[in-house]
Amino acid sequence: MVFGRGMSDQLTPFLLENAPIRGRIVRLHDAVSEILNTHRYPDRIAHLLGEALVLAAILSANVKGEGIVTVQVQSKGPLKYLVADATAKGHLRGYADFDAEAIEDEMPLDALCPAGVLAITLDDGQRYQGIVELQGTGLSEAIEAYFTQSQQLELKSHFAVVAKANESSARKWQAAGMVIEHMPSTEGVTQDPALWEEAGMLFHTLTDPELLDTGLPMDDLLYRLFHEHGVRVYEPQAFKARCRCSKERIEGALQGMPDADKLAMLEDGNVEIDCQFCHAHYGFTAAELGLAAGDTSH
Ligand SMILES: [Zn+2]
Repeated sequence: MVFGRGMSDQLTPFLLENAPIRGRIVRLHDAVSEILNTHRYPDRIAHLLGEALVLAAILSANVKGEGIVTVQVQSKGPLKYLVADATAKGHLRGYADFDAEAIEDEMPLDALCPAGVLAITLDDGQRYQGIVELQGTGLSEAIEAYFTQSQQLELKSHFAVVAKANESSARKWQAAGMVIEHMPSTEGVTQDPALWEEAGMLFHTLTDPELLDTGLPMDDLLYRLFHEHGVRVYEPQAFKARCRCSKERIEGALQGMPDADKLAMLEDGNVEIDCQFCHAHYGFTAAELGLAAGDTSH
């Protein structure tokens, strides 16, 4: 597959040739716009979901085959639940559940999700889940804490999300992120705290506009930051917005429920379900759900 330089919706893995450091940079445009415009959440929620999509995309490189990475935020505050997932094939989706009355535009993360937790699940046949308390001002800081605490891995991250005004009703969103990781000492790699600190200082100079600027190709941005250490860039991976729901999957979930619950969902003899991720609508007749005709007369 051929990718244009500076094209949207892709992740580029990279390695510093003269330091035990690797990283990933991702920029999402059409994919994140499609997802956020489907939901039309308040900006504060859309912003956080944008960050979660960036995080899911970055971590999706850790699963293989049919693998899926799921990023979840849960709290008892105004934001009740938020999920973003990414498949190893580059399909993204997400949604949030929140108390709309309690959401304010510039709400800090600890007010939006007091005592919140961040859960990350990697599943490609082998399932792994790690959970950390949500802290800091955004998911970028939370993910640094996650890797330090649950993976004993030194990692630095920088995420940026911005909405562009658009003349049509659909807004253009941009979400981007970069992480660098101090590679663990293994055969052929030796950790180097001095180089890690130096790379950290270079990383710290990265700005939101640089990260988001489509006129600045990822390769050029990486070279600008790390040229002294030699940057090796790997094949980019493309992302797009795509839900995995289907009538069969939802029917399967309904079939697993007790008859009493299925009956409670019946309206005019049918069960109507909307996918929370993509708003696709599915309808089932009582007969499709294995409910006897007589049962529907309640
Ligand atoms: Zn769906």
